[in-house]
Amino acid sequence: MTKLLSLGLDGAAWHKLDRMMADGKLPNLERMVEDGTRAPLETVLPPVTCPAWRCSTSGKNPGQVGVFWWLNLDRPTGRITSPTADSFDTADVWDYLSEEGRRCAVLNVPMTYPPSELDGVMVSGFGAPFEIDLDADSITHPPELQDRLEEEYDWQVGIDDVNDPGGVEEALDLIRSRFELLLDTLEDGEFDYVHLTVFYINVLQHHFGDGPETERGWELIDEYLGKLPDDLTKVVYSDHGHSHIERTFVINKYLIDNGYLSIESQAGDEVTGGIYTALKRVGISPRTAGALARRVLPEGLYERLVQSGYPIPTFELANRVNWEESDAVALSQGPIYVNRDRLGDDYERFRDDLKAELESVSIEGESPFDSVAYAEDVYSGDHLDEAPDLLLVAADEWEVYGGVTPSVIERQATSWTSGNHPIGVLLVHGADVTAGELQTRSILDIAPTVLRYLDAPVPTDMNGESFGEPFRDGLPERRTREPIAGGAGRDAVQDEELESRLEDLGYLE
Ligand SMILES: [Zn+2]
Repeated sequence: MTKLLSLGLDGAAWHKLDRMMADGKLPNLERMVEDGTRAPLETVLPPVTCPAWRCSTSGKNPGQVGVFWWLNLDRPTGRITSPTADSFDTADVWDYLSEEGRRCAVLNVPMTYPPSELDGVMVSGFGAPFEIDLDADSITHPPELQDRLEEEYDWQVGIDDVNDPGGVEEALDLIRSRFELLLDTLEDGEFDYVHLTVFYINVLQHHFGDGPETERGWELIDEYLGKLPDDLTKVVYSDHGHSHIERTFVINKYLIDNGYLSIESQAGDEVTGGIYTALKRVGISPRTAGALARRVLPEGLYERLVQSGYPIPTFELANRVNWEESDAVALSQGPIYVNRDRLGDDYERFRDDLKAELESVSIEGESPFDSVAYAEDVYSGDHLDEAPDLLLVAADEWEVYGGVTPSVIERQATSWTSGNHPIGVLLVHGADVTAGELQTRSILDIAPTVLRYLDAPVPTDMNGESFGEPFRDGLPERRTREPIAGGAGRDAVQDEELESRLEDLGYLE
């Protein structure tokens, strides 16, 4: 029988869920909150799906696992690469549980492709190829499971674009398939530990904010929460929170304007820049303009238009940065990389100055950032050296965008209306759980808590602190063990498919 369900709801935020509960729209969650223990959950920085889920399942900060965002900048070459499951220099809870003879079912966790050979089953989540190719690596362990997924659940890793006609229905079907697999897995009773991450609710939140599309997603999730066994011990949590986006700070435009970032200009930059500005002035968003252009222009011409100049979408930036002549470049959502090779002895001074400069940015009397942090104040571990040099944490209602638009401040630079926030949710529920509330916990605390709850030793390299307060009998005594070596063997690769999927989701728009 399953002893612990770990349920990941990507991007869940209490302020949004509380509002829907107050409106009576999430009756099952409301009951679980009443009977269980809730807390705010602080995530890693930047607060992003990759690497946050794997930080939660490994109990380690990004400086330890060596993955900082969806993309990494390779400093010597300025090349952008994307991580795979094997880029994470860590073992995860399921590896430790497997060694202790606990059977695990790990379903749909982002960045778990290729799947690991644990004692149990794994279905790789976002980051796995969308087109399942029977000749390539399977997205499941054991590989035979993949056929069953397709036959019984019409399993898709992801969908093209929630903004396409029918896209919302497709996203809801996807969420449904995740829970149907979960219910059957629990029914099997074969696994001690079951983890499911529901990722597409976050995609709905990004694109539709608090709109009816997102509410339908949460209502669907609530319906399934009502079908989970009441007695089963559940740790429900999110990889980050969410907050409404009012304005965008276009950090790379700021770096260009201040002479820190050099972009290869191309014919047409000024013309498309002018068109873009004109469209913005009459209130047409680049997304809408893009969709219109895509519809009316002959195939390929729209892409060429986009690639010819402003706005430079994030996915195109890597091809346009003149790295040898740049001091710094940023990715979306916060990371800033400084060109250490070019700056040499001047590196520290440059970084201090850039930090101070960004801290003094004031837009109508307010800072777009909660903080501008040095890497070493945010991260620790063997991979600190690969970390972005500075990290911007957006203030509430602001987002930091890594593409380039004609002005540093935009109303809405991408199709997102809601962005990631560092505070997510934690809810513990089940027969052995008391009703209550906890102070803010860290997402790194999940992994050691799971291990201790299942009476498995905690590896000495896990950073998080386990919490026993929600459990009536506390946690079994803490035992420790040597760490198991993790992935990290395989270098990150330039993965065009992942990049195009990220573009569909809005990360690289
Ligand atoms: Zn996420």
